[in-house]
Amino acid sequence: MTLSPDASSPAPLVSHPVGKLGGSARVPGDKSISHRALMLASQALGVTEISGLLEGEDVLATAGALRALGVELRKRRDGVWEVEGRGVGGLHAPASVLDMGNAGTAARLMMGLLAPYPFLSIFTGDASLCARPMGRVMTPLAEFGATFMARDDRFLPLAMQGTDEPLPVTYRLPVASAQVKSAVLLAGLNTPGITTVIEAEPTRDHTERMLAWYGFDITCEQKDGVNHIAVRGQKDVAFAKRLLGVPADPSSAAFPMVAALLLEGSEIVLEQVCINPLRTGLFQTLKEMGASIEYLGEREEAGEPVADIRVRAGHLRGIDVPAERAPSMIDEYPVLAVAAAFAEGNTVMRGLGELRVKESDRLQAIIDGLAACGVNTSVTGDDLTVHGTGGLVEGGGRIEARHDHRIAMSFLVLGMAAQHAVTIDDARAIATSFPGFSGLMNALGGRIEDAPLTSALRLPMRVIAIDGPAASGKGTLAQRLARYFGFHYLDTGSLYRAVGLRLLETGQAAENKNAAISAAKNLRDQDLQDSRLRNEKVGRMASIVSAYPEVRSALLDYQRAFAARPEGAVLDGRDIGTVVCPDAAIKLFLTATLEARAARRHHELQEQGIEVVYDSILRELRERDARDSGRSAAPLVPAPDALLLDTTDMDADTVFHKVVALVGQRIDGQLLVSIGE
Ligand code: C5P
Repeated sequence: MTLSPDASSPAPLVSHPVGKLGGSARVPGDKSISHRALMLASQALGVTEISGLLEGEDVLATAGALRALGVELRKRRDGVWEVEGRGVGGLHAPASVLDMGNAGTAARLMMGLLAPYPFLSIFTGDASLCARPMGRVMTPLAEFGATFMARDDRFLPLAMQGTDEPLPVTYRLPVASAQVKSAVLLAGLNTPGITTVIEAEPTRDHTERMLAWYGFDITCEQKDGVNHIAVRGQKDVAFAKRLLGVPADPSSAAFPMVAALLLEGSEIVLEQVCINPLRTGLFQTLKEMGASIEYLGEREEAGEPVADIRVRAGHLRGIDVPAERAPSMIDEYPVLAVAAAFAEGNTVMRGLGELRVKESDRLQAIIDGLAACGVNTSVTGDDLTVHGTGGLVEGGGRIEARHDHRIAMSFLVLGMAAQHAVTIDDARAIATSFPGFSGLMNALGGRIEDAPLTSALRLPMRVIAIDGPAASGKGTLAQRLARYFGFHYLDTGSLYRAVGLRLLETGQAAENKNAAISAAKNLRDQDLQDSRLRNEKVGRMASIVSAYPEVRSALLDYQRAFAARPEGAVLDGRDIGTVVCPDAAIKLFLTATLEARAARRHHELQEQGIEVVYDSILRELRERDARDSGRSAAPLVPAPDALLLDTTDMDADTVFHKVVALVGQRIDGQLLVSIGE
């Protein structure tokens, strides 16, 4: 279903146990490398064609910021991004605030890039980014000559006045941070002379590798066991066109990899994965546990080592994972914990303190999630021990993802290999690093599906469900109630009508069930706005296609997600109280005699200047009633707890006031607060 009810509704997913996995897949591009690809492309004189870019929101924030700085970038139809580099020193002052969304890497690297420009840049981000400290980049950038005004001296929103006379610096990293290192190196690009970063502990080196790949003047040396990275600034690199293939993200590859290891008989190939040794701590750990992981066709892309990785299922043994390995696999502990749950014996993961301050308290999320799936863990200090089951994991849990994409994906992997399906309360965060996750896993043999919102979340349903036959006054009442209570309104008949209209447009008969199913699956938001939907012919088509159970189920998620809107919702139709929202706070069932309804419809049409014979309306309604009540899929019947209201002798005002009075008696005042009509 391509309808988007509301991006602010939670999206629960359920992962069912499956057999073996097979085939090959390419997981999305590496996030760290994607940010750098866009930024460095802007610094070259020439066009860079970037393939495999991760198109998550974070990377799009980088693209947006570069556009604001005068860089032309566009996505071609074949998915390749073209960036017209402006060269070192070629960026323009941004006319507006640079909104970095949730992207910490983008914010910090962009500050570095812009520090040696003689203009003012103002950075902001979402609530979570605004809570992350920026002092660690402001300090070295101030040495170049940039000045700052920041909220509480170190948080976004922040204004940076760059300098037109930047001074090269030598900076010893006080904390191991690839972001700070990269910010300094990027500032060095437009600074005369040599800028040097000294790092005691190695951190991700994607910036260095890509600078070298582009031909910028960069050297990396080990002196006394410490890395000295030096960039000579204000050097131009020029070319007509260069291709930059972003390697697949090893942190994303981890999910299908672990799933294949756990599902007996599986063999998969993950294509073009970055195997930079600073990123592959998990692969090494899994190999030590006995996993069969092979690199095929090792090569270099954009300065990074890449390979296709063949993974075969096998028996895993618990091991001791040393704290020193944490930096190269900090993001991978959740999925390692899942692998460990299936292993023979205990796996001890040491030095996980850092996990408590990630996107969520990841350590607690791992422990709680495993407990919900019947797996025991214990914690001593910063060390986590997962008690392996030797292969049989109960599953069946309902996991709180806590807006953490890696927690969500890890437990969906667990569900694939467990005894019982695992449900995640909200999977929206997955798109930040792994758009298309479910589709890719399912193509390999997984079964990850949307979970019904109502049962998965037990939301208090701020919903008024109104059912009844055609022309019983549902629509008028529903719209008025929605206005009165400040709720959203959905005329669910329009969904079935839109399916009918699509068939009419494409010259298909309503009896063509497959065409109807496909139309239902491919509805778009704008299809619901079509003025032709009210046409009687379309209504007749709707009443036929709505009898197909597959059409109904294709439209169900959309209706449920609509109903779950936090502001509350009124839905009218035929099966709202019985099927779509059985948990609705209020259920109404309107009736009226056939004659009264026919008279109303007749009057309505006359008002619109449409001449139709009363008898033909009567006949049409009778046929529709029979179809709606007689069908086996969701027939028109009142829910057992619905309020029945015969509107035969009432006008619309009377119905409305009666319902408001009834509703007031039925529910507590908290749920529905009148905001006045
Ligand atoms: O209410 P409306 O006349 O717009 O609905 C058109 C047709 O769609 C109805 O006759 C009914 O057969 C079908 N329908 C349904 N379930 C709903 C809403 C409408 O089956 N929830």
